[in-house]
Amino acid sequence: MKSKTTLLILILLSVYFCNAQTPDSPIGGGEFVFNPERKACLTPEQRSDIGKTLQTNIKKLQLQNRLSFKEVKSGNHPLFIWPIQKASNIDYNDVWAISGYVDHDLNFNNNLLDYNCGSITYDTSNYNHQGIDIYNWPFTWKLMDDDGVEIIAAAAGQIVAKSDGEFDRSCDFNTTTPWNAVYVQHSDGSVALYGHMKNGSTTSKNVGDMVSEGEYLGIVGSSGISTGPHLHMEVYQSIVNNTLTDLIDPYSGTCNSLNTDSWWANQKPYVNSNINAIMTHSQAPNVFPACPTTETTYENSDFDISEDIYLSAFLRDQIANTPLSLKVIRPNGSYLYDWSINTTTTSSSWYYYWFFPVDALGTWTWEVTYQGQTETYDFNVTDQLGIEDETLEGTSIYPNPFDDIVNVNSTAKIKKASVVDILGKTILIVNKNSDEGIKELNLADLSNGMYFVTLEGEQQQKKTIKLIKK
Ligand SMILES: [Zn+2]
Repeated sequence: MKSKTTLLILILLSVYFCNAQTPDSPIGGGEFVFNPERKACLTPEQRSDIGKTLQTNIKKLQLQNRLSFKEVKSGNHPLFIWPIQKASNIDYNDVWAISGYVDHDLNFNNNLLDYNCGSITYDTSNYNHQGIDIYNWPFTWKLMDDDGVEIIAAAAGQIVAKSDGEFDRSCDFNTTTPWNAVYVQHSDGSVALYGHMKNGSTTSKNVGDMVSEGEYLGIVGSSGISTGPHLHMEVYQSIVNNTLTDLIDPYSGTCNSLNTDSWWANQKPYVNSNINAIMTHSQAPNVFPACPTTETTYENSDFDISEDIYLSAFLRDQIANTPLSLKVIRPNGSYLYDWSINTTTTSSSWYYYWFFPVDALGTWTWEVTYQGQTETYDFNVTDQLGIEDETLEGTSIYPNPFDDIVNVNSTAKIKKASVVDILGKTILIVNKNSDEGIKELNLADLSNGMYFVTLEGEQQQKKTIKLIKK
């Protein structure tokens, strides 16, 4: 269940900074807010129907002497592994974030209490959220289209019900369409519901078949009451009188009113910051198209030297006011940019992007560090157009180091010169369309230090030269 909010400020920044490469300020980005209406994934009627179906199937299996659970309490509940797995065709670091836990405050309508005494849950429309919502991030629909996020059995058990064939691109709560789901009963009689699966993706196994821990169950989708691809996982101790009974919150925590011990083999931290992906793009990624349109990533790692490079970072569990360190590293190991920004907002998912010109051929590295985790992404810069070498190869600037004025020595006509400082901030742009073009630059106003001047010819060919002001 999701919607999206691109911060207005960032949109404004993106317009404002269109022509000024300023690493200090991301030119775009925003927050992916999942289920802002805080509504339920499953209606009471749907849950009641599920209870009846499960009971019917369990009785049938019993009659066939195929029921794995023997109704003699073995005592121990299962210990779950994480029910989400990145598919082998996806090269992001990670593919999920959490939008909601079980609500432990039994009052409705914005009386929210998760196991950790926070408010990461939903309860609007006289209902308390009874499961965990784990959504795809980044590029949530693209990941669904690519079968990129697999739902796997958190514990071994027997499939006691399964449904498929339902529409899987739901965008709102005003639907009664059922979800695609797989239901697994564990050896202690407890049952896990895995819902919202992609149409046609559920396991080929049938009711009565056993699944092992970690076995594929389906693909994360948006079937049922949902506004975006996510897994809703809900767990009950038992089924009594056709009813799912004794809800479990797998997380142990001070405010878990249902059970004291964790059902996770390794319970993940409440704040679980992660760099889910970093990449480069040929243009700004379309991260939040109208639901259910698939996002366009524009991911690209091969550029011409004349192109601007878009660089992005997609975070999970961003913490407000924490540093995000960023580096754009040349093929020779030197830094084109080395800077950091402070995050503004605490959010389960957030992304940033920037764009810069580059000044050398070869394999570059985009490096992002957050909360002690460093990720790198390589991209190649070549001279595909071949213009620069032909026409600006011999172009030079002198004197260098300089005092006030530098001369431009070029056989080609230079129509534009832009000067950026070491932080990438544009200091000066000169345009000249006269016959002779730009022959000198007056840089008397610059303070001492290092600069990069990018000269541009009539065919948009470019050359960037490092300058030192004495
Ligand atoms: Zn849910």
